[in-house]
Amino acid sequence: MEMTELIVMVDSLSLSPGRDQWKWRWNNNKNFTVKSMYDILLKQDRDYSQPADVFPFKLVWEVSIPTNVKFFIWALLWERVLTIDNLNGQCIAIHNACALCNQCEESINHLFFGCSLVLDIWYGLVGHIARMGGILNHDNPKAFLTNWPKLNNRGIGESSWCLVPYATLWVVWCIRNHIIFENWVFDVEKVIMRVKGTIWAWLDMLCSKVDTRLLTCCGTGRI
Ligand SMILES: [Zn+2]
Repeated sequence: MEMTELIVMVDSLSLSPGRDQWKWRWNNNKNFTVKSMYDILLKQDRDYSQPADVFPFKLVWEVSIPTNVKFFIWALLWERVLTIDNLNGQCIAIHNACALCNQCEESINHLFFGCSLVLDIWYGLVGHIARMGGILNHDNPKAFLTNWPKLNNRGIGESSWCLVPYATLWVVWCIRNHIIFENWVFDVEKVIMRVKGTIWAWLDMLCSKVDTRLLTCCGTGRI
């Protein structure tokens, strides 16, 4: 019986002489994407409902920063960066003290927004902005990045401004690790210079690519 069904099924197929190709049926252009896979899985899950608080993926994946930094920001927005409080939460017993100020327990909010030494960095970079006190007064990384103000500027000024929070968060994390694992000494001026250098390096990397989207971002193309 099965053989008969197979013959009928095969008999209805018409073969062409071209090479075989993979086609992903759940995408209009027949190419596989993770998004199409994700969408079809969600459709099949009848119990799934869109969360009220949607993850701000554009703040991570559509920003022109290196991929490793995107993953860091992604983990930060999920509040999964391995600060000492998160390690303690995973039953890894480490004495919890901020590696920078050594006066408070280390948490994501303290390390990136509350630590007095990190506030010196933020104010050293953008303290001249009148609204900066309110901007830093967010209680989580998602709210902080979501509310980072737009700059009424164009070209490299705008591009640099958009990168400031990402570069600062990334450099603070790197410096924190250098202090813990390589006995670095914190120096606010050097950290600020490192943030500026990081922004410049990212812009240079961005503008060296021939990509109309990136050229738009940088205004005139090369710096
Ligand atoms: Zn601290």
